[in-house]
Amino acid sequence: MGKTKHQGPVRLPKSPDPKHWVSWVPFGIGKVKPKHIRDTAKVVWENKDSLPYATRILTQGVCDGCALGVGGLKDQTLTGPHVCTTRLNVLRLNTMPAIKKEILFQDIDDLRKMDSSELRNLGRIPYPLSREPGDKKFKRISWDEALDRAAKKIKSIDPRQLAFFLTARGITNESYYAAGKVARFLGTNNIDNASRICHSPSKTALKRSLGIGASSCSYMDWIGTDVLIFWGSVAANNQPVSTKYMYAAKRKGTKIIVINPYYEPSMDKYWIPSVPESALFGTKLADDVYQVNIGGDIAFMNGIMKHWFEMEKKQPGSAIDRDFINSHTRGFTELKKHVADQDWSVLEKSSGITKERMYEFAKLLARSKSGVFVWSMGLTQHRFGTDNISQVANLAMLRGFIGREKCGVMPIRGHSGVQGSGEMGADPFVLPGGEFDNENRKRIEEIWKFKIPDWQGDIIGVSLENALLPDDHERKLKVLYTSGGNFLETMPDPGFVKQCLENTDVRIHQDIILNTSTLLDAKEQVIVLPAMTRYEQPGGGTSTSTERMVYFSPEIKGPRIEEARAEWEIYIELAKRVKPHKAELVDYNSAEEIREEIAKANPNYEGIQHLKKKGDVFQWGGAWLCEGGICPTEDGRGILLPISLPEVRKPEGHFYLTTRRGKQFNSMIYGKQDPNNNADRFDVLIHRADAKELGIAEGEAIVVYNRYGVFHGRAKYDRTRRGNIAVYWPEGNVLMEKKVYERYAGMPEYNTAVIVEKAETYHAHKDTKYVERRVEELETEIS
Ligand code: SF4
Repeated sequence: MGKTKHQGPVRLPKSPDPKHWVSWVPFGIGKVKPKHIRDTAKVVWENKDSLPYATRILTQGVCDGCALGVGGLKDQTLTGPHVCTTRLNVLRLNTMPAIKKEILFQDIDDLRKMDSSELRNLGRIPYPLSREPGDKKFKRISWDEALDRAAKKIKSIDPRQLAFFLTARGITNESYYAAGKVARFLGTNNIDNASRICHSPSKTALKRSLGIGASSCSYMDWIGTDVLIFWGSVAANNQPVSTKYMYAAKRKGTKIIVINPYYEPSMDKYWIPSVPESALFGTKLADDVYQVNIGGDIAFMNGIMKHWFEMEKKQPGSAIDRDFINSHTRGFTELKKHVADQDWSVLEKSSGITKERMYEFAKLLARSKSGVFVWSMGLTQHRFGTDNISQVANLAMLRGFIGREKCGVMPIRGHSGVQGSGEMGADPFVLPGGEFDNENRKRIEEIWKFKIPDWQGDIIGVSLENALLPDDHERKLKVLYTSGGNFLETMPDPGFVKQCLENTDVRIHQDIILNTSTLLDAKEQVIVLPAMTRYEQPGGGTSTSTERMVYFSPEIKGPRIEEARAEWEIYIELAKRVKPHKAELVDYNSAEEIREEIAKANPNYEGIQHLKKKGDVFQWGGAWLCEGGICPTEDGRGILLPISLPEVRKPEGHFYLTTRRGKQFNSMIYGKQDPNNNADRFDVLIHRADAKELGIAEGEAIVVYNRYGVFHGRAKYDRTRRGNIAVYWPEGNVLMEKKVYERYAGMPEYNTAVIVEKAETYHAHKDTKYVERRVEELETEIS
């Protein structure tokens, strides 16, 4: 943990600098770019029935959008207002009234005709509901009835047959903590959170390489660092205000490098609405873009290191920070040998980057005295996500970019709750304040005063699969309790996920809105519990940003949903009904009491108990983790790990496919058109030359398929790396193989090999079993 404290926000320069402008044409007229003014006007219109409340949420609450983190309109990096259209789009979730009775109680099949966006727009869930198989409609039930039914079922099963999941939609640390504690109190370690499908490999890798589980630095370190690298991250789209920090960095001379299979337009140029010169003339963000193959990052990073070792041979000290390596790491010799043994031609083929281009980047990093690596799902959502991130840690350590100003490694998070969820223990591998190991378990047992089950809990993907086990299996999933989340849209192979969800005896959906998963049957019943938003919860709540700032969000005066309850309170009420004789062990009278306990259970969160009013915030761990190079590992050293090239199966004639995000907040879609490239959600981004080789014209209907599924879309010529294509997520999940998890962190695989064909050809031959034959061939080629 670092001793140095964050210095607080700094000002942007007042005078403009035309050298960063995109063009002299004002407002990017004629260019494809987000329409911030139009989008803001649309949000004002949507919230017209509750503008004062919406304004209070924006000015007093902590953003429930991404995890960049902001309290009211102020952040800890730059002075000046902080708001973006992602936050504005999500706002309506907090201000909309309850679903109208006649809509809520209509035939379930009519509700099922709606997609998740339409369901979201119906309004909030007003009171507890239930539905049994054969029921054509939801029934209203009382809270007592709902909780008693859930408790009765939980009492009747083996605790291993119970699983909890919490999404990251605005959920507070207090709710994650209560859920983590209640799950263990009820005897199960099957509790997981949304980071399983976004950054779980980041945490696992940073832990094994550096002993830390979070960003080692702050956004402030972007500003003025020599080189700022975005690796598999489209921060401009997913954390929009980060562009303001990028602007500040550029004004201080920072070089921005983007590494991605797709040449992301928003990371190239952006019109930042809150910076007048940028709003007018745009800002060129990326100084260089490396279009790596999907899954080729490890090879690229090995290539950079190989260049460094060769540079060192010619001129010692020219590439590697020897002092840092000698004083603060181990494993150097093994890593060096491993990298030296790699063949250039293999590295070039796997990465898609030439040796010369690798040298350019290696040289840039070698000449930089400081650097920050930022990454996202482009690195994590692979079968080898943990290895990808350990490679980033290798690069950072070899250059000594750890534990000091303007340096660090940062997994940038897309959901406001996701950083805190694991830190609060809503994770099968974690308890508050540490791992799920004997030592930490005993420590937490002393605080909680009850025994924690000692078996390893399952990740959510495995819990879902367990619903298909035989009835008498000890791990057969019988009760799934999910706070938010829509697995039908977030997990690979939606058809399989549906089967799993419908095979649970009882599903409990604690949520603010309906989604497509809520409407599925369960074998006995579905119970729906109406939750409060973070702004409604008595005593307020806290959430932790990517840079480890713990922000307090107060309860905000405004309209309330009839019977919605604070999320943490629902868990507690349920636990008390399952084990009434031990109720006092999980009893809290207020959110403040939970915060008091969090401070004891997770020592990093000492200080959370003092957060009481709007604007209260602290950063756990100080400005830099591993400050001075001292890592919280056994011997205080970071571990350099030799990472082998992964096996990326792309048979001849196939494309490798990845997913991208458009106008959406995680799986919630807010617009059919991607504001950054004008693509439709069913457009397939493909390199012009690749498409032409297949005789596919721009805009032509195509079919993308493999042995797992079929995706119908339209070709959109775009700047993808040749041989690589991209489709939108979650629509592209139909092409992903089920049950494939990252080895160390349990992340599902979200990349795959596919065949691309003109729809015309595909359909013409479908009748003659052409597709079946092709799929069989594909199976042979892949296996
Ligand atoms: S960038 Fe993220 S934290 Fe900031 S306002 Fe937008 S959604 Fe909220």
